[in-house]
Formats: sequence, structure tokens, C-alpha cells
Amino acid sequence: MDCLFCKLIEGTIPSKKVFENDRILAFHDIAPAAPVHILIIPKKHIATMNDVTEEDDALIAELFTVARQIAKEQGIAESGYRLVNNCNSEGGQVVYHLHIHLLGGHQMKALAD
Ligand code: 5GP
Repeated sequence: MDCLFCKLIEGTIPSKKVFENDRILAFHDIAPAAPVHILIIPKKHIATMNDVTEEDDALIAELFTVARQIAKEQGIAESGYRLVNNCNSEGGQVVYHLHIHLLGGHQMKALAD
């Protein structure tokens, strides 16, 4: 399977890791859109949010647990942060391996309509 994030998980492409366990990897985004921009991904290849099934419930919950933990470690838990998932083309998804963007470290605007 030709998946960029699977290659980061395998280690064939390097990444700046901030968290790893048997199920999840988190690493700095290569083109940060905020002072803190970390991607949190399941090691299981799930292409998009649409491909999540009930059997992934615990895994999805753990992605958010890890996001909260990293936000604390990065010192942005209290000031605030944004979690984003882009799904498919009109959602702005570029890499088709499920990921949550953790963004913070500066003031963000309310989302437009
Ligand atoms: P998407 O638009 O799919 O939600 O987000 C994909 C993200 O992956 C983008 O923010 C992009 O900067 C990041 N990205 C793309 N290629 C790489 C890479 O090789 N390494 C890392 N660390 N991030 C990447």
C-alpha cells in the first residue's frame, strides 16, 4: 500500500515523533499551520473518517486521549487549541490515512460558515 503515513509508522520516512504506543503515533506536521501543529494518527490504516467502524470506537477515543495529553505537554491545554479532521476532497484531505490535527499556540478565529 502506497501510504505516506504508513511509511512514517514503519520508519521508512522519518518524522519528529512526540508520542508512540502500539496503536497510535503523533508527530510534528512538516508544514506547520500554527506554532504547535501535531498530527495524531492510528497505526491501523484507515483512509478517512468515513471508513471508521464501530470496531474502531476504542481507538478513536484513544486518539482524543492522546491529543489531550499532548496539548498538556505542549503547554497549550489552558490557553486553548483546535482539533481538526479533514475528510475527503472538499474537506481538504490530502493524506488518505486518518489523522487529527492538533493546532495551537496562537489566537485562532472562529470558524467561517
Ligand atoms: P490533510 O490535509 O490530509 O488533513 O493533512 C495532511 C498533513 O500532512 C498536512 O498538514 C501536511 O503538511 C502533512 N504532511 C504531508 N507530508 C508530510 C510528511 O512527510 N511529514 C509530516 N510530518 N507531515 C506531512
